[in-house]
Amino acid sequence: MDIKRIYDVLGEHFKSVTTPIIDLVKAQTEDPFKILVGTILSARTKDEVTAEVVSRLFSKVDNADELGLLSEEEIQKLIYPVGFFRNKAKYLKALPEVLNTMFEGKIPDEIDDLVKLPGVGRKTANLVRALAFEKPAMCVDIHVHRISNRLGYIKTKTPLQSEMALRDKLPIELWINYNSYLVAFGQSLCKPINPRCDICPIYDECKRVDVKTKFERTHYDDQKMENTMKIISWNINGLRAIIKKNFFDFIEDFNPDVLGIQETKLQEEQIPKEVSALGSDYHIYYDFAERKGYSGTALFTKQKPISFSNSIDNEYFENEGRINCVEYDKFYLFNVYFPNGGMGDDRLQYKLEFYEQFLVHIENLRKTGKHIVVMGDYNTAHKEIDLARPKDNEKVSGFLPIERAWLDKLVEHGYVDTFRHFHDEPEQYTWWSYKTRARERNVGWRIDYVFVNKEFLPFIKDAFIMPDIEGSDHCPVGVEIII
Ligand code: SF4
Repeated sequence: MDIKRIYDVLGEHFKSVTTPIIDLVKAQTEDPFKILVGTILSARTKDEVTAEVVSRLFSKVDNADELGLLSEEEIQKLIYPVGFFRNKAKYLKALPEVLNTMFEGKIPDEIDDLVKLPGVGRKTANLVRALAFEKPAMCVDIHVHRISNRLGYIKTKTPLQSEMALRDKLPIELWINYNSYLVAFGQSLCKPINPRCDICPIYDECKRVDVKTKFERTHYDDQKMENTMKIISWNINGLRAIIKKNFFDFIEDFNPDVLGIQETKLQEEQIPKEVSALGSDYHIYYDFAERKGYSGTALFTKQKPISFSNSIDNEYFENEGRINCVEYDKFYLFNVYFPNGGMGDDRLQYKLEFYEQFLVHIENLRKTGKHIVVMGDYNTAHKEIDLARPKDNEKVSGFLPIERAWLDKLVEHGYVDTFRHFHDEPEQYTWWSYKTRARERNVGWRIDYVFVNKEFLPFIKDAFIMPDIEGSDHCPVGVEIII
């Protein structure tokens, strides 16, 4: 593989797309202090927000000593609304003293020293070393890890393994820009989901290891990018638990336009501050169960909806925090945690009644002329292909004939399971029991879906499940909608 040629092509591509924010900071200043602070602020923050905050902060603060004169609250105000602004304000407040006591007030240029600074992990340290000091640094984030593996240049399972493999293999003169080039390429073409292999300028060099894409290769210049909205649903099995795992990395890596989550398992006063901080990027809507620590849903949408509701026109079903509905120009989008029928006959009955009332409600909304999109945990596998052990589970809630019959009824009313519309392969699951470590053996169930009314199908560009995303006993599922 001619990695130098690939690097040069990606360098050309880099010039043609939006420059990642941290390269913009570098273009405006050579000052290691400002590059370090800009890099800390840019983590888990949209580039536009970082750009605004960086310019506000540096109009007040020119160096570490001046930063040290500000209080933590003043720093918070200046850097709001970057992601985790409270934590980052704490780090920035502590930074001048650490620099003075450990590094004579200077920004160090070695990785092992940089990671001693507050708020600086390995990724940030490598970026700062490369950008501020132009010293070889192998900065591996999720884009570099993913693309290097897809190319077939390395074969690794984690970003840290990729860092080590690239240190061994990649010519040192390519280290400095490798990260910038691959991040820009990963954000625009070699995306995590459905990479644009069809228009990729390094298609012939790429081995496309484990790549699934629905785009046919035509010609690099023939395609126009369509405007799409990426909608993802995920039963996260406890919001406070998953934010300690990979929730924010997931949002950063996949950048959904709408994210619907189920089983938040918290009350309004328990919403973590870090989740509220996502309000800088998203409008956030919740539905809480009356019973504490139970059920609960939330919907994050970048586009402000016309309206929002937690109702399906029947109060009996509206106290368990199961429903978010937002209205856009073309469609109503539901994020639903359908009841689980496994806790006894009364809960099975409740689930079936909920199903019926839900169908009545969406049929009424459909009469308004708007389309309907329903994502969520339906708690039922529809067909035998949708679970690993259909025969063993015929009498188990989640695969009972009476539950499956409602999904048949949904289809008869003209709603389409978007994933099955695009994919007919078996062994595609979205939930695995924790108890039996079923995920390792892929003994799972597909119970999370995105259904749309059939008239809306021409607008559905793709449907996907993401079985590699861990953090919950369910994996995310989603669709891309042409807007
Ligand atoms: S061919 Fe596809 S997988 Fe390979 S680098 Fe290009 S977009 Fe990525």
